[in-house]
Amino acid sequence: MDIMFKSTRGDKKLVTASQAIVKGIADDGGLFVPDSIPKIDFDLGKITSFSYRELAYRILRLILTDFTEDELRYCIDSAYDQKFDTPDIAPLAKAGSFRFLELFHGRTIAFKDMALSILPYLLKTAAKKNGVSEEIVILTATSGDTGKAALEGFADVEGTRIIVFYPEDGVSDVQKAQMVTQKGANTCVAAIKGNFDDAQTAVKKIFTDNELKAELKQKGFVFSSANSINIGRLAPQIVYYFYAYALMAKNGDITMGDKINFTVPTGNFGNILAGYYAKLMGLPVNKLICASNDNKVLFDFITTGSYDINREFIVTVSPSMDILISSNLERLLYHLSGSEEKTAELMSSLANGGKYTFKISDDFAGEYASIQDTFDAIYSLYSETGYVMDTHTAVAYSAYEKYVRSSQDTTPNVIVSTASPYKFAKDVLRAIDSKYDGIDPFEALEVLSDVSETDIPAAIKDIDKREVIHKTVIDRTDIKDFVRGKLK
Ligand SMILES: *Cc1c(COP(=O)(O)O)cnc(C)c1O
Repeated sequence: MDIMFKSTRGDKKLVTASQAIVKGIADDGGLFVPDSIPKIDFDLGKITSFSYRELAYRILRLILTDFTEDELRYCIDSAYDQKFDTPDIAPLAKAGSFRFLELFHGRTIAFKDMALSILPYLLKTAAKKNGVSEEIVILTATSGDTGKAALEGFADVEGTRIIVFYPEDGVSDVQKAQMVTQKGANTCVAAIKGNFDDAQTAVKKIFTDNELKAELKQKGFVFSSANSINIGRLAPQIVYYFYAYALMAKNGDITMGDKINFTVPTGNFGNILAGYYAKLMGLPVNKLICASNDNKVLFDFITTGSYDINREFIVTVSPSMDILISSNLERLLYHLSGSEEKTAELMSSLANGGKYTFKISDDFAGEYASIQDTFDAIYSLYSETGYVMDTHTAVAYSAYEKYVRSSQDTTPNVIVSTASPYKFAKDVLRAIDSKYDGIDPFEALEVLSDVSETDIPAAIKDIDKREVIHKTVIDRTDIKDFVRGKLK
């Protein structure tokens, strides 16, 4: 059956999966959602025999139905290869009684690699299928993880260029070093004098600047987006929920058919939404436990029904979850309400008053962890087992413990681990021992290697010694001219 995509907000026009990937966002500002959610068409018991790539094919073919088998296998094989430092791609780690789905074995050691390794190939294939002949320019504003993962994904991909803006003082030293040393003739990185919101606002303005778009189209360029509103980022994330289940069954942690829980450290709601899609497609999932940090808008929403961003924005040690507007929640609201009108109404109330009320289904539970909880979690699991979690994963661990205490739910659980501890080594070490307070960020990598008895991932080894390629710093008011100057 062909799956078509439509907007969450009422534009009834149906587009194919490949058109949705090229467009990124619907014309009415809504997000693309599938018009029905397919069920898996293979016996669940078989998944233990599938490789990650085979499973990816079996899942993606059900959703991206206008891609041919050859096209999908080409995209999957190009994405999930030796770029990942383990043949499992998404291995399951065991520490004490806890299970961690490690999604950080790709090139930038954060979970964004799971989707951004394949998106460039999906986009390139989708452009070809739809007769888009212009060069595709990916514009991204980043607070750290997305920018680097997008750069790695698109570097030297024929027919594409990528331009990344990051706040000059708003990313960690390791994140900055990762971006400014990026290779690839089609990559461009610039620091912005301003914060992340300044960069994001300027980039969003360019996406709706029709005059600039027309001018650049004449020169042979079209813009596209690599952030998680693109369905081409969401679909590949469904795969690892099935894969985790297969590994749990293989390890004897569960019997095939048993239900399991997932605890997901959440920001933009993309990761956990993919878990919900997996459940709708037939994966035996009991609860999806949504873990928040101090910016606990989602916890409040899940527990009270009130979504309210009128609050202080708190800078935490899990920066990729420091977010008040979780874009992908819009998709869930659409699926739960079954109504474009209702979704549009909620989104307009969010845009106007910063809040809305809606009762979410009990597929979800919510918990949150403070900065202190996060440090305590890292410390206690390390002391008990020697396993070192990054700060985002630690939020999920702490939230899971709180969930079990309050619910007495004994369903087997997988904690979704979204970053390598090396990416946030300074804070991780600080949690383990206060003597590491104020350690040099690059020295921290060596120390963490000793403490955790693991090797520094190749992705960031000697990162402070690599050649700095991107030195541009610009004012936020100059972003548009900068883009124009780059596309000649
Ligand atoms: C992006 C990110 C998250 C949040 O994922 P969402 O899909 O935005 O909810 C969590 N942890 C890390 C390390 C991330 O990079």
